[in-house]
Amino acid sequence: MTTIDPTHVASAPLAGREPPARRGPGARSKTRGGAGGDAPFMPVVKRPPLVMLRGEGSHLWDEDGRRYLDFLQGWAVNALGHSPAEVQAALAEQSSLLLTPSPAFHNRPAIELARFLVALTGVAQVAFLNSGAEANETAIKLARKWGRKYKGGAYGVVTTFGAFHGRTLAAMAASGKPGWDELFPPCPPGFSHVPFGDLAAMENAIDASTAALMVEPIQGEAGVVVPPAGYLRGLRELADRHDLLLVLDEVQTGVGRTGRFLAQEHEAVRADITTLGKGLGAGLPISAVLANERAACFELGDNGSTHGGNPLSTHVALAVCRVIAEPSFLRGVEQRGLELGRALAALCRHWGRAETRGAGLLRAIVLEEPIAEPLTELAREEGLLVNAARPTILRFAPMLRVTDAEIRDMAMRLMRARARM
Ligand code: PLP
Repeated sequence: MTTIDPTHVASAPLAGREPPARRGPGARSKTRGGAGGDAPFMPVVKRPPLVMLRGEGSHLWDEDGRRYLDFLQGWAVNALGHSPAEVQAALAEQSSLLLTPSPAFHNRPAIELARFLVALTGVAQVAFLNSGAEANETAIKLARKWGRKYKGGAYGVVTTFGAFHGRTLAAMAASGKPGWDELFPPCPPGFSHVPFGDLAAMENAIDASTAALMVEPIQGEAGVVVPPAGYLRGLRELADRHDLLLVLDEVQTGVGRTGRFLAQEHEAVRADITTLGKGLGAGLPISAVLANERAACFELGDNGSTHGGNPLSTHVALAVCRVIAEPSFLRGVEQRGLELGRALAALCRHWGRAETRGAGLLRAIVLEEPIAEPLTELAREEGLLVNAARPTILRFAPMLRVTDAEIRDMAMRLMRARARM
């Protein structure tokens, strides 16, 4: 069991201050280029006054040479860490060969990635897109098409409160984030929401207009909310009983994050439609929609994307999937996930009233009071990056290769940050 000796905290090293090993020609110091606050961006994201320059494995360096231990990894994107060798090699190989022939032509990496995912997951067809939102948007279109073709025009999608499916209009309507329905009215119709983890509520929400149930196996953005055991199996049974499609949004949980290639494997469930994103490109934007035989009903002209399935992203994603889908790699993720869980449990015990939850390397600490935001700021000052998913919730999504030493380092820095509150 991981224990944390608070006496170590006083001697834990402060945030590393060391020059980045490589400073590219475009590198700017804070004094030369400003800390980003004056950059002409639309003000939709709150960012701290620093500019990130370089990443390697579990670490990021800013332009002033400060080093950060990254337990966020681009919001669970950099599955293999910052700038992993596999991605660098795949990029170098493909970038000198072909960037894109246009989606009007086949390219070899996209064909190979589609075949790899089909062989791995048993689905029938794959579509490649660029972001999680776009993959979910495509999944919703596929469900509506299926409803029109096979269910007398059914189009409704039942989703869950707290869900996060992305920021396009339909993905926002599918999401259950409080207040989102009032942001950009009118909302696309056809979505209803029920409490996450509640099978009876899900069944009650099904009516003649329903085509699909759409759920995250674990609600990531909501604060790593894990449903009761048997929930995914129950959803599968409901979908079968009512002749509906089961759509699982694995944009955050997929590609090894929970210790299985897909989180649905923990309950031996197969969705009709699965969406992937984030870790699929391990830092490159690519997402995918996987459809089984039953759901695969798109016809010519039903969907498309200029960059979707380009050879650069698909070649990288294939290299990433080949690493992550290896059973020994996934067993390692599971073990490292347990180690992270033990370290977080030890922190919670030390703090008294906090709790931890999650699976694999997607975990959270639920704090007893709404201090997650200031705590992440203090943690950053201690050289640690974690995320306040909600005012009371800290989220942890380190690279899938995170080491035990890095987990211990994270715990020390977080303890130090909390001690300063
Ligand atoms: N679905 C889930 C479960 C997510 O966690 C996210 C992003 O956090 C998305 C969809 C949206 O992905 P993207 O930001 O790539 O559009």
